[in-house]
Amino acid sequence: MPSSVWPTLRRQLRADLPAEDFRTWFHPLRVASEDAEHLVLEAPNSRFVEALEEGFRPIVDWAIADLKGPTYQVLFKSGETRTRVETPGRSSRKKSVGSPEPEGAPSSSLNPQYRFDSFVVGNSNRFASAASQAVAEKPGIAYNPLFLYGGVGLGKTHLLHAIGNRLKRAIPGTRVVYLAAEDFVNDLITSIRFERMPAFRERYRTIDVLLVDDIQFLAKKERSQEEFFHTFNVLYTRQKQIIVTSDAQPRDMADIEERLRSRFGSGLLADIQAPDLETKVAILQRKARQQQGLDLDTDVAMFIARQVHSNVRELEGLLNRVTAFASLSGVPLDLEFAKEALRDVLPDQDRPVSAAQIIKMVAHHYGLKVREIKSKSNSRQITYPRQIAMYLCKRLTEMSYPEIGRVFNGKHHSTVMYSVEQIERRRADDERLAAQLERFTRQLG
Ligand code: ADP
Ligand code: MG
Repeated sequence: MPSSVWPTLRRQLRADLPAEDFRTWFHPLRVASEDAEHLVLEAPNSRFVEALEEGFRPIVDWAIADLKGPTYQVLFKSGETRTRVETPGRSSRKKSVGSPEPEGAPSSSLNPQYRFDSFVVGNSNRFASAASQAVAEKPGIAYNPLFLYGGVGLGKTHLLHAIGNRLKRAIPGTRVVYLAAEDFVNDLITSIRFERMPAFRERYRTIDVLLVDDIQFLAKKERSQEEFFHTFNVLYTRQKQIIVTSDAQPRDMADIEERLRSRFGSGLLADIQAPDLETKVAILQRKARQQQGLDLDTDVAMFIARQVHSNVRELEGLLNRVTAFASLSGVPLDLEFAKEALRDVLPDQDRPVSAAQIIKMVAHHYGLKVREIKSKSNSRQITYPRQIAMYLCKRLTEMSYPEIGRVFNGKHHSTVMYSVEQIERRRADDERLAAQLERFTRQLG
């Protein structure tokens, strides 16, 4: 007869459990029988067996799976003569769906708006989207784990929820759990504090599909990484689907331990890139239609799309601003209107500084009228501010010397040149002037 697995399993459990738990619950167990598929352990009474099933079933399953593979079973029986009735839902037979939620299961708050049909597919996200759909159709089989990564606001969370929503609808009763990695960490901290680790482990190990968002949050949190690693192993061994998102691919996550990175890298990696212009336009038009019942003109969508580099959330922000302005003012949403609505929020390069702005600002600062600063007067009170205004026009606009001259009521371009040089020279050794020019510049930004 081959040697018993019990001593090895015991050693594993001793390492996995708090000393107190091990002594109370596993020390008293004896091997009742053992064969190629089962290890039957005998406990003092049926209450004891129930408590073991309640508190430690996942840990035992996980430990034995590591030693003997996923199909090997550990059973508990009572040393008393009365046979134990198995608690429903705690059957050691593997159930993929439909088991009742254990108490205090992690919340699964899926956003119903984040669906595949509200996700616009373009070159930047085609692969990630296809992989997500494949996983939603064949959980635990197609690609496990699925690792989605990419920059901020590119749709990772959206796809994660879409998978969850699809699964919940397609296979009712599937225990789908969505959580931000941060929630996992917080839950772990609370469980350690209140000494509820067996319950914590049970919660995470009785899930059919685990969706974990922003796994990079586990960086440098060693205990969380360790727990997550074990959770991952248990679910994976039981062929439960795991989907993880991150801001970087596994090999670039420096502060995540190697064994976890290698687990993540062992399934399918799918990245999401910044959307191109056409995809951004399509996203805007789809959102406008779905959320506001509005048909957005392509030129308007194109204008908005050009203002944002990649973050789709920012794109939505601009769209909401434009549509809110339009509906409040009852004005048709055309390109002119969109430009107007976004004037205050767009970056500087889209609002070039004009000579008129500069002149107005400088005149105001020196208590002059625009008319005066542009006049032919050569009084020092006026020429000095005028030189400053000309200097700023040269520095902050694309205008040539003759063009600036024309704005100042037809001054000769050599006058403008002279003025700019004057200010340039003074600026070098006049700190107050330098500071004032600085303030003017900022005021215009
Ligand atoms: P991430 O998790 O990658 O930071 P999100 O999934 O939260 O990004 O996406 C930000 C916002 O942009 C969400 O409101 C989401 O619906 C939207 N979004 C991103 N990509 C798309 C897309 N391809 N189609 C439709 N909406 C998108
Ligand atoms: Mg996200």
